[in-house]
Amino acid sequence: MQLNIKNKFTKELPSDPITKNSRRQVKEACFSYVTPKKTQSPKMMHVSRDMANTLGILDTDIKSKQFTNVFTGNEVLSNTRPYAMCYGGHQFGNWAGQLGDGRAINLFEIEHHHKQWQVQLKGAGETPYSRTADGLAVLRSSIREYLCSEAMHHLGVPTTRALSLALSGDEVMRDMLYDGNPALEKGAIVSRVAPSFLRFGNFEIFAARQDHKTLKTLTDYTIRHHFSHLGEPSKENYIKFFAEVSKRTLKMIIHWQRVGFVHGVMNTDNMSILGLTIDYGPYGWLEGFDFGWTPNTTDNQHKRYRFGNQPNIGLWNLYQLANALYPLIEETEPLETILENYKINFEKESLDMMRSKLGLSMTTDQDSELIEKLEHVLLLTETDMTLFFRNLSKFRKGHPEQGLDIIKDAFYTPNEVSGKIAQQWREWFKIYDLRLEQESLENEARQIKMKAFNPKYVLRNYMAQLAIDDANKGDYKLINELFQLLEKPYDEQPHNEKWFAKRPDWARHKVGCSMLSCSS
Ligand code: AMP
Ligand code: MG
Repeated sequence: MQLNIKNKFTKELPSDPITKNSRRQVKEACFSYVTPKKTQSPKMMHVSRDMANTLGILDTDIKSKQFTNVFTGNEVLSNTRPYAMCYGGHQFGNWAGQLGDGRAINLFEIEHHHKQWQVQLKGAGETPYSRTADGLAVLRSSIREYLCSEAMHHLGVPTTRALSLALSGDEVMRDMLYDGNPALEKGAIVSRVAPSFLRFGNFEIFAARQDHKTLKTLTDYTIRHHFSHLGEPSKENYIKFFAEVSKRTLKMIIHWQRVGFVHGVMNTDNMSILGLTIDYGPYGWLEGFDFGWTPNTTDNQHKRYRFGNQPNIGLWNLYQLANALYPLIEETEPLETILENYKINFEKESLDMMRSKLGLSMTTDQDSELIEKLEHVLLLTETDMTLFFRNLSKFRKGHPEQGLDIIKDAFYTPNEVSGKIAQQWREWFKIYDLRLEQESLENEARQIKMKAFNPKYVLRNYMAQLAIDDANKGDYKLINELFQLLEKPYDEQPHNEKWFAKRPDWARHKVGCSMLSCSS
């Protein structure tokens, strides 16, 4: 396998002098060299061709034994040295100290077509940062990360990506329900790819330890390699850097709100410095539109990371990053202005996003009210977000009376939509219709625009679970079917119409479909 390896991260940043995998506190270093664990009988299950092409990996290489061995950690390429990164983080609002890549191991950096990518294994064994856990990942969580990260990419949401999904051949003990009944599950390894896996927590750890020297080294590195358009590192450019991270974070979260993605664990160690969706754990997709929903049962009590709170948490996390960068800037005002702007921009971009979902190109003063009213009716009875917006694209100007019929498939309990509720919907369609009268686009053109903005196919929670159930029985066909389906989420795919449907009733309260917990 011919890869154009770079390894800038390990060359330019300070490393931990100890090179064992044993757990420890790592000081004054950005990463530790580690050795991935050898596994029983690695078996490649799926490869993202699109990602492989992007990295310059040939089709013939994908089928090789070496590919399987390298991307499961069983072979370390001669000119590379795997490493795990040191970071800290705020978990559920509290400072948690050193966390780090507990089950992620970076293999190398590849350059292809003038772009650089970090390649990382998830589930390839313990590292200094594994704390009390085993450094491994099970098949179910690996399938979820693999399918969802690639699906998000094709939806146009900034995200880390996935190259491959493999079985390790080892078994892993997990207490899936946290009820004292651990059982063995199949172990798996996902190889994931991003320009950088740096997180807010990579910066926070050095600020927390008052190690301003390493903080500066890391920040300068990040600016030089990933924000080079800002110019050479300087106090002024640290501020610009923070402003850009803030902008990118907001942009990412607006995308999440657009497609109905709920991350589930927006701890600062799970916030990418590049504004990419990272660490797919107990994430979920909105079925019924509901600001209060979270898929993460660990967060059931306070629902800190619920759908409607994601933009606020983005801001809260940016406050932590601002605190971390403060020692390099030593002025609060510019940081506060940036955080204030996040709030202002959120209002504006969120409104623009909702306008686009409704097929509105112009802006009028009444748009906020139209959207608020829509959010109100959407909450009257359980209404599927994806079906609603996709079907709304069929609405015809001058025919508000047809509105309810057009979107009726989105209702989970259609018989509730009578009397007062039906009346409120009819009123909403009337004002929507009046608003469309002010737009110049005709029905067909508006429909095309709406379909390019409102996906038809998303990875509904039960879909991933079906693929997991099959895979646990040794049948991987559904992984491939869903992978291909989600490569074109905005297209009409007549042969795949069965996936454009509400969550089936059996999935409402099923583990894995509506109930998920942190790291597995
Ligand atoms: P998460 O919130 O799932 O992204 O993980 C929080 C922290 O726990 C990170 O430092 C992870 O590396 C670590 N972690 C999660 N699962 C494992 C595992 N199975 N083994 C070792 N570390 C883990
Ligand atoms: Mg994480």
